[in-house]
Amino acid sequence: MVGFGYDSHKLVPGRKLLLGGVLIESESGAMAHSDGDTLLHALCDALLGAAGLGDIGELFPDSEIKYKDADSKIFVKEIIGLLKKKSLNIVNIDVTILLEKPKLNKYKQAIRQSISELCKIPFDRVNIKAKTNEGMGFVGHSEGIAVYCICEIQTKGSDL
Ligand code: MG
Repeated sequence: MVGFGYDSHKLVPGRKLLLGGVLIESESGAMAHSDGDTLLHALCDALLGAAGLGDIGELFPDSEIKYKDADSKIFVKEIIGLLKKKSLNIVNIDVTILLEKPKLNKYKQAIRQSISELCKIPFDRVNIKAKTNEGMGFVGHSEGIAVYCICEIQTKGSDL
């Protein structure tokens, strides 16, 4: 089964910019109730979508005080636990990050490594693509960041 996820956050000065659990050197970071890791939020929705389990807002409402500044890796870990219960394995994860600045080239491998460890899948089953929005729209004007993620999951024991 495949699942698709999308997330976006406003970028503001004085906040950290985290992507896939990796801290990015940046003048601004994501405004959010949690730590604002846009990539991990898109990943959560992709995993939930593939498993038919709804969306991140249903599982971890931003009205909940306990998720204030929460480490988004916790959300992913919890969802992986739900997949395990359904005997589902992650096959691969493919991500596209839209961010005008900074350029993410030097962070891509670290992000892959982080997601590979978090999801307990091999490094080469995680792919990270990063691009700008060519100066257009909210990403292009550096008002925000957007991330798209797709993943495949399979029932344990079935062929890849
Ligand atoms: Mg989010």
